[in-house]
Formats: sequence, structure tokens, C-alpha cells
Amino acid sequence: MQSNQECDVLVIGAGPTGLMAAYLLNHLGVNVKILDKNSEPAKESRAAIMSPRSLELFASLGLDGKLSKRGINTTEINFFVSGDVIGGVQYDKAHAPDTPFRHLLMIPQSATEEVLVEALSEKGIYVERNVEVTNFEQNEESVSVEAKSLNNPSYG
Ligand SMILES: Cc1cc2nc3c(=O)[nH]c(=O)nc-3n(C[C@H](O)[C@H](O)[C@H](O)COP(=O)(O)OP(=O)(O)OC[C@H]3O[C@@H](n4cnc5c(N)ncnc54)[C@H](O)[C@@H]3O)c2cc1C
Repeated sequence: MQSNQECDVLVIGAGPTGLMAAYLLNHLGVNVKILDKNSEPAKESRAAIMSPRSLELFASLGLDGKLSKRGINTTEINFFVSGDVIGGVQYDKAHAPDTPFRHLLMIPQSATEEVLVEALSEKGIYVERNVEVTNFEQNEESVSVEAKSLNNPSYG
């Protein structure tokens, strides 16, 4: 990354982990930047289910409403072998008084990322794309990161 670009924490990767980490760090007042080598967010569905604990985390940040608008609540998962149900989980019947989310939220990973990207943009934080981190060096005081632009050769 450019030598004049400094931050408290550099998040490498704008998947759900990096986006949530960046959001939480910003929430705590940390100056954060996010890089991703991909030119655009993933479009594949990939992770498709959000569990109660993750929903609690989003709720603690006031983001659960935006998520639930994009997904479908389900209370039950069934497992099949050769067409026969061999078992399952019924979340609404579980004795779980410590969570308000007695269901799963079916939501594609791409939609989860969109919610986080939008929430970050409202804080003035944007993912810098087409930038690949190639190396880093760490000492007791700081970390220096080497990165290259995948579409701008003069980036250094
Ligand atoms: C094909 C597939 C199907 C899946 N299906 C499911 C499913 O059905 N259910 C489920 O729960 N999970 C599923 N997963 C797993 C789920 O997608 C992962 O758990 C989730 O993506 C992890 O999030 P993450 O943010 O840690 O990593 P990722 O989503 O992989 O994001 C990492 C990001 O870091 C960026 N990056 C990596 N290295 C660099 C670098 N050097 N410089 C800059 N950027 C970099 C990448 O471009 C990427 O955007 C699936 C995964 C795959 C690949």
C-alpha cells in the first residue's frame, strides 16, 4: 500500500470475517482500512445460514433488521438419507431462554456482505479493491505491509 497510508488496523479480506472485524473495530473507535484483491464482492451463495449467536452479534450492533429483511427465518433442519428423514433439529423447541433468536436465518453470504459493506459505508469506510497484500513485516511498534494493485501498476 502507499507509504502515506497509515491506519491502526489493516483488515486484509472483505469477506464476512474481515467486514465484521472492521465494523467492530470502528465501533470501538479504531481507525481501520480494508483491502481485498478481488475486484468485486463474491456472488456465489456459499454460506447460507446464520446461527443464533451470529444473529445476536448483529442485533447488538443494530444490524439484525437489515439482515432479516434479506433472509428467511427457519426453525427446523432435517437430514435425509436416500429420501428418508433420519433426524433433525427444531430450534423453536430447544430450551434456550438466553437467546431471542430461536431460529436460523437463511441468507446468502453475498447478502450478509452487502449489509456489512453498506453499514461500513455509512461510517465512511469503503473496501479498497483490486489490491493484494503480498508481504508484511512486523516489529514491536508497527506492521509494514506490501501490497500491489491488480489494475494499477503505479500503485506501490
Ligand atoms: C464453494 C464454497 C461453498 C461454501 N458453502 C458454504 C455453506 O454452504 N455454508 C457455510 O456455512 N459455509 C460455506 N462456505 C464457507 C464460507 O464461505 C466461509 O466460511 C466464509 O467465506 C469465510 O469468510 P471469511 O471472511 O473468513 O473468508 P472469505 O469469504 O474467503 O473472504 C476472504 C477474502 O480475503 C481476500 N483475500 C485473501 N487473501 C488476500 C490478500 N493477500 N490480499 C487481499 N485480499 C485477500 C479474498 O479475496 C476474499 O474476499 C463455502 C465456501 C466455499 C468456497
